[in-house]
Amino acid sequence: MATAAADVFHLRKRPTFATAEEERRHRKQRLAAAFRIFSVLGFDEGVAGHITARDPERLDHFWVNPFGMHFGQIRASDLILVNQHGEVVEGNHPVNVAAFAIHSQVHSARPDVVAAAHAHSLYGKSWSSLGRLLDPITQDSCAFYGDHGLFADFTGIVYQTSEGERIAKALGNYKAVILRNHGLLTVGHTVDEAAWWFITMERSCQAQLLAEAAGAPVKIDPGHAEATMQLLGTHEAGWFQFQPLWARITREQPDLLE
Ligand SMILES: [Zn+2]
Repeated sequence: MATAAADVFHLRKRPTFATAEEERRHRKQRLAAAFRIFSVLGFDEGVAGHITARDPERLDHFWVNPFGMHFGQIRASDLILVNQHGEVVEGNHPVNVAAFAIHSQVHSARPDVVAAAHAHSLYGKSWSSLGRLLDPITQDSCAFYGDHGLFADFTGIVYQTSEGERIAKALGNYKAVILRNHGLLTVGHTVDEAAWWFITMERSCQAQLLAEAAGAPVKIDPGHAEATMQLLGTHEAGWFQFQPLWARITREQPDLLE
């Protein structure tokens, strides 16, 4: 179906890389851009939140934001590389223990996943408190139709990998998981895709909260929800949706590339 989406919408193709070094630089720049966009959109809450990108060579290592640095100030060169034991092997900043506990388990359970995003954004955490999956009530929310899980548990701040393992289980093969009483977590085959799913899931939570506050929203029927999902919900479509955001943020905040 990915091919169908590309055919219908004439999607640009994802870039390919001659060397791991090139791919690493690309992933780090996209990661820094994702943080800047999350900041513009108000997804930060103090020191909470993390987006990770798997290293293209050391596949059990990931790049992540330095603990305590504002999303809006992160440059590619500020990102830290964390190994499978939670040790920082590149960079001079500490890692958020929760970032390691959750993301190490997600990356390990899902070899297909390059990036994972999590933040305490307002509408995502508000929706999460209801302990429900999103309904297909808008075209955009169909991206998550039959493709997100619910972690229906909250036992305090996640600092143990055993808890991250349970979250990874709730994520399963989906693109996203709602962490009850906590917020959203999304994944992708690219940093672009993981960041986009987070952005559009946050807005889908907002849309459903608004609609249910006003009345009883009409659900899109299963056949059309599924067909919409097959076009809107692919890895390629998720990557493509991020491209205008990348263009905007790199023009407005070019220092993120440093
Ligand atoms: Zn969190």
